[in-house]
Amino acid sequence: MIPLVDTYGRLHDNLRISVTDRCNIRCFYCMPETGVKFQPRDEILSFEEIERFVRIAVTLGVRKLRITGGEPLVRKDLAKLIAKLSAIEGIEDLALTTNGVLLAEHARDLYDAGLRRINVHLDTLDRERFKQITRRDDLAKVLEGIDVAQAMGYGPVKINAVAVKNLVEADIVPLARYGRERGIEIRYIEFMPLDSQGLWERERVLLADQMIEMIQREIGPLEEIPDRDPRAPATEYRFADGIGRVGFIASVSRPFCLNCNRIRLTSDGKLRYCLFAIEETDVKSILRGGSDDDVRAAVRASVHAKWIGHEINSTQFVPPPRPMYSIGG
Ligand code: SAM
Ligand code: SF4
Repeated sequence: MIPLVDTYGRLHDNLRISVTDRCNIRCFYCMPETGVKFQPRDEILSFEEIERFVRIAVTLGVRKLRITGGEPLVRKDLAKLIAKLSAIEGIEDLALTTNGVLLAEHARDLYDAGLRRINVHLDTLDRERFKQITRRDDLAKVLEGIDVAQAMGYGPVKINAVAVKNLVEADIVPLARYGRERGIEIRYIEFMPLDSQGLWERERVLLADQMIEMIQREIGPLEEIPDRDPRAPATEYRFADGIGRVGFIASVSRPFCLNCNRIRLTSDGKLRYCLFAIEETDVKSILRGGSDDDVRAAVRASVHAKWIGHEINSTQFVPPPRPMYSIGG
């Protein structure tokens, strides 16, 4: 097997699969409040098509999977897909990213299907700000979902917090404390230009260094953890007192494109070599009419075409034609 190496020598073994573009909340930096046009059902890959794609991807060296969305837990019978994927030989790591609203309800089925790793997206512990960000009043459900998942033995549970300037400054430290109390790593994600309404501005990005400064000032010193996997996007720190850790996904201030090992499959079967890619490969039509070799060739061609990195920090930057909810984060 020849691995998926691009023209810059990066090995791709990490596949993120979006299982739906629908969502039960409306984070302003991802989805508009109303009028979203979702993909019709027959445009969305079936579980059988996703499973086939993953089996083919494994023959190309893919070892890690993350299920995302939209909100993956709104996809009916998701546990059935998890069971299929966790049984595939060659998959060494299977994880899910969720907004947590339906987690308490589904944690048991997903665990029984073989899922162990969960990232819950939560930007604030303040009910009013949660409503302001998500346009829904579901904070209590998310917190309950996290408690249920931890009690059930999921591990590690991590939290993804999107950091938007002039909005979440007051949430950075309380989230870090919450994580320290529960043994949960909080991963702060710099706001990226992936919203559907063009709201992103550089001035609205709360930078990793600013957050590190706030946390150190209020809680105590942080020590950088030497990267266990240099290809992981988060820079991780532990508290010097030994209690807890935090991570920063600093796509804007510290781009990690040179270490990128990811490819992405959208819910409507488009393969993307980058979150910010403009072009994409239609693998759905190949899955519906072609052979496994045809799919393999399409994946190789997509990786071969991969650019060196996004250009958020350049005046040339063109936002991708799809917003975050339809790519998968
Ligand atoms: N609905 C799930 C969730 O919210 O976790 C999975 C899909 S969501 C698109 C994946 C991740 O994208 C979220 O965890 C959120 O942290 C991140 N995200 C969404 N919009 C973003 C933006 N404009 N900038 C940075 N991160 C964003
Ligand atoms: Fe939904 Fe996740 Fe987008 Fe928020 S970030 S609107 S939870 S898909």
